[in-house]
Amino acid sequence: MATFADLGLGGAVLNAIAELGYDEPTPIQAQAIPVMLGRHDVIAQAQTGTGKTAAFALPIVAHITPDRVPQALILAPTRELAMQVAEAVFKYGKGSRISVAPVYGGQPISRQLAALERGVQVVVGTPGRIMDHMRRGTLKLDHIRTVVLDEADEMLDMGFAEDIEYILQQTPQERQTALFSATMPPAVNALANRYTNKAQRISIAAEQMTAPLTEQSYYEVLPREKLDALCRILDVEAPHSAMIFCRTKSEADQLGESLQGRGYTAEVLHGDLAQTQRDRVMKKFRDGQVELLVATDVAARGIDIPEVSHVINYDVPNDPESYVHRIGRTGRAGRTGQAITIITPRERRQMKIIERVSKSRILRQKLPTLADVAARKREVFRESLREVLIENSLDPYILMVEQMSEEFDPTYLAAAAFKLLLNEVEQEDTITTMEGDAVGVEPGMTRLFIDVGRLDRIRPADIVGAIANESGLSGKQIGSIDIYDRFAFVEVPAQAANTVLRAINGTTLRGKAVNASIAKPKR
Ligand code: AMP
Repeated sequence: MATFADLGLGGAVLNAIAELGYDEPTPIQAQAIPVMLGRHDVIAQAQTGTGKTAAFALPIVAHITPDRVPQALILAPTRELAMQVAEAVFKYGKGSRISVAPVYGGQPISRQLAALERGVQVVVGTPGRIMDHMRRGTLKLDHIRTVVLDEADEMLDMGFAEDIEYILQQTPQERQTALFSATMPPAVNALANRYTNKAQRISIAAEQMTAPLTEQSYYEVLPREKLDALCRILDVEAPHSAMIFCRTKSEADQLGESLQGRGYTAEVLHGDLAQTQRDRVMKKFRDGQVELLVATDVAARGIDIPEVSHVINYDVPNDPESYVHRIGRTGRAGRTGQAITIITPRERRQMKIIERVSKSRILRQKLPTLADVAARKREVFRESLREVLIENSLDPYILMVEQMSEEFDPTYLAAAAFKLLLNEVEQEDTITTMEGDAVGVEPGMTRLFIDVGRLDRIRPADIVGAIANESGLSGKQIGSIDIYDRFAFVEVPAQAANTVLRAINGTTLRGKAVNASIAKPKR
């Protein structure tokens, strides 16, 4: 059996591999690494779990020169995969001082800009966001020497074909191109043939096509608790992309609004949206700018919906066929997916019928408690901490820590910072609706949070003026205004809340850029 050194790897990369405890190359690595080290193109069929990431990442790391320009570009279908791959490159490149930037939708572009400006050598991202940066001129591809298309079949499934071609056309002709894909349908083959040159084809015997790995569960709640139950499930599951199905259009509409009001990024897919509007919604969803897509069966039909991590039935589907059809949007091609159904006691029988006819095992679950939600929040927080650590743009903060650690133990410092950031408050664990009085908002009004306050010399008249000027509401329609030192709250008619946000975000108040959002409910 060949060793990693036999494959042509050396120096710091070998040390990194040893440190990770990889004893010997996996079959895909044994085949792909020498080809990639020789700067030849590769078309590889390999699934997740075969060690495919290292198969392309190790040669990339070995090839990187000290120039602080993007030298390798890795395209991946989802934010999660982009993060995983970036983390892998980071680990393999540790001893080689390689800088890598993950770039994906759903994360503030400013953070990514800062990373790119510092000069990164490996860029890993989703096609949509990579294109954004190319258009802004913040990502230059003229020094790219290797491009990897990871999980090409998934990227095409998600509708990224045009974006990928555009990106490839902007990279140097003499680049090395590697395409990795779990399956090789004709579209993937065509893409591979068009953009690779004398590629070596590698195929790792697929360990049988796995059946969809969809976990199916349901929750039973009272009708009036459905929205709260859904939010709690969303908070715990923290889906990267979820489709939420409703039975009727008006229910979908209402749910979409409620979710937006609670601060989730959600869009509604209507049967009566114009084609261009549908395309816009779908693009946002694919790019990861929106995590939740609320739809009816009718609206979702005939639309090329990308694979999602979660399918949630907010209503029990009318028949077993539509249940099966809905949940088919998740758990494709050997990935795990979650299919969750929220039912009320009266729908128990219907759920049983669906379970029997669809020959599925649908487990009844207990609704997550607030403690579960808090635990999950901490986990999500830990994940974002890891992202920040990988991006490694911490200089001013390191200085702060160094200064303060003369006074305090760094462990305590970190713990205090976490406490401040997580801002956990004790709450009573009863599901109660949080509309109206409970949020302390006038009925029919929505409370907005604005990040300017007394210290910015903001007065109520400034806020009224800005909202009236920018959004066309009259002064009378604007409700109570509370101004604090650094921020302010203002109530506006609920149906105008999003318009107001769009209108005032990006404007300035007393010279300070305004950043407004729907206020979190008062607890
Ligand atoms: P992947 O197929 O790229 O998602 O990798 C699957 C897992 O295998 C990852 O957790 C890798 O860290 C691990 N891995 C990759 N190559 C090796 C190797 N040669 N020996 C042991 N583990 C490996």
